[in-house]
Amino acid sequence: MTPALPFDPIQRAAEMEAIVMHDQKRKYYRFRASRHYGGIVTADAVGCPFLCAYCWNYARNASPERFGKYYAADEVVEKLTSIASRKSIRLFRISGAEPVLGPVSFDHLLQVVEAGRFIIETNGLVLGARPHLAERLGGLNVAVRIGIKGWDPQSFERISGAKKEFFRYPLIALKTLREAGVDAWPAVMGDLFLTEGTRCIAALIEEMGIRTRIETEYLERYPGVMSAMRHRGC
Ligand code: SF4
Repeated sequence: MTPALPFDPIQRAAEMEAIVMHDQKRKYYRFRASRHYGGIVTADAVGCPFLCAYCWNYARNASPERFGKYYAADEVVEKLTSIASRKSIRLFRISGAEPVLGPVSFDHLLQVVEAGRFIIETNGLVLGARPHLAERLGGLNVAVRIGIKGWDPQSFERISGAKKEFFRYPLIALKTLREAGVDAWPAVMGDLFLTEGTRCIAALIEEMGIRTRIETEYLERYPGVMSAMRHRGC
């Protein structure tokens, strides 16, 4: 189900939600402990409104109907907390996909974050399009890391596959979350942004009146990732 590029990511988010959510259950394909953040228990899901050139989970996000099984929120919490107690880890996240595709997946997420201290890794698209959802994260035991996919509309379209008109949505999410008192920060891909792109996005964030740190991450250079990037012109 790979769409023609560039696509409308809001429409794609709704299509993804219809595939990966069923009776309040969401599709996951793996539960594990990982080394990130100094040790975190991770539920790997499928379904994202973007198709980033460097996504390590590209194939599953291009065809989420083919991967994973539906789990209720309480089943996810059970799996996460059981791994946590075996590994003595107290931090949780969902990875491999976008946790917020619309109101149904958001309600599922609200129940899953009851597992404990949670890092919500998001691309910020739906939270920016529906700020009332972002506001509901205020006061919860969560921190939110927003993956920023470009430093201007053109680079955003090239990297995410989504139309450039949606470039600012993740920044709106960032602003809304911080105003709601949530520890939210942007993360950029250093290999693509380089110094100039990072400077551009920092200036834009400052112009929007947002005061925050910017995290820089680096590519996992899998062969498939490098070939998809060349194909996309990144
Ligand atoms: S936003 Fe994240 S999960 Fe979605 S396609 Fe991009 S890298 Fe993959």
